[in-house]
Amino acid sequence: MTLSSSRDKLRELRHVALDMDGTIYRGGQLFDTTRPFLKLLDHLAIGYTFVTNNCSHAREEYVARLARFGIEVVLEQIVTSADATITYLAKLGSEIGSIYVIGTPALKAALAGAGFQIATGKTEPGLVVVGFDTALLYDDLCRACFWIGRGKRFVATHPDTFCPTDRPTVLVDCGAICACITASTGCEPEVVVGKPDPRILAPVLERHGLVGEQVAVVGDRLYTDIELARRAGAFGVKVLTGDRHGEDDPEAPKPDLIVPGLAEFGEAIAASRA
Ligand SMILES: [Mg+2]
Repeated sequence: MTLSSSRDKLRELRHVALDMDGTIYRGGQLFDTTRPFLKLLDHLAIGYTFVTNNCSHAREEYVARLARFGIEVVLEQIVTSADATITYLAKLGSEIGSIYVIGTPALKAALAGAGFQIATGKTEPGLVVVGFDTALLYDDLCRACFWIGRGKRFVATHPDTFCPTDRPTVLVDCGAICACITASTGCEPEVVVGKPDPRILAPVLERHGLVGEQVAVVGDRLYTDIELARRAGAFGVKVLTGDRHGEDDPEAPKPDLIVPGLAEFGEAIAASRA
C-alpha cells in the first residue's frame, strides 16, 4: 500500500479495535504510549473497543483492570473470544444440550449467563468448548478428550498457542490445549472462534453502524490481529511491542501499516487529518 492510499484510509477511520496483550500492555505493565493514544482518539472523536482472544477473564474484570491503569471504559468497549463463542453457539440452536467446558470460572460464567447449561462431572454433554484454562486439570482434559473422541462437537474459543507475559514462564493457551486434544483423539475443532475469525468484530460494527473499511484493527500478532483485519476488510496495524513471531515469514498476513507502537500510529492518524 502506498503512503497516500494509507493516508486516505486513515482519514476515513471512525473506530479502532485494539488488541490488549502485547499492544496496550504486556502482562501487568501498561505501555507509556497507551493513555496518550486513547486521549488522541477521544480528541478526534474516533471510538475504540478492546478486542481480545483472552477469554480467561470476564469483561467486567477487563473494565476493572483498565480502570486501575486510569483508563475508563464501559462494558460494551470490551469484546473477548467468549462473546464470539456465545454468538457462534447461539446460532447452533437449543438442541446442542449441555456444554463441557475447559476454561476458567469466568468463561463458564459467561456461557451460563448467556443461557447455556454447563455440564459437570460425568453428565453427557452435547458439545465441548475449549478455552484458555489457566488452572487446567489433567482429569478435565482427559474427560474433554473422552467426549470429543465419542463424537461430541469440539469448539475452540481462539487459536493462540501462548499468551504473552512479563513473568519468567510460558502461558500455554487455548491453541496448544486444543493441539493436545487433537493429538490424543485425532479430532480437530469444528471451529476456532476468536481472531482472526471476523465474527469477533461483528458486535463492534453492529453497535456503531460501521463497515470494516471504517475500522482499524491494531495488534501485535500477524496471524490473528492482522489476519482479522484482512478478513474483515479493515485497516490492519501491526505494533512491534508484543509477539514478533512471523515477521520474517513472507507468507504471513500483510499489515497495512507497521509501527513501533501506539504513539507512531497516533501520529499517522493525526497526519492524515492535518
Ligand atoms: Mg496481542
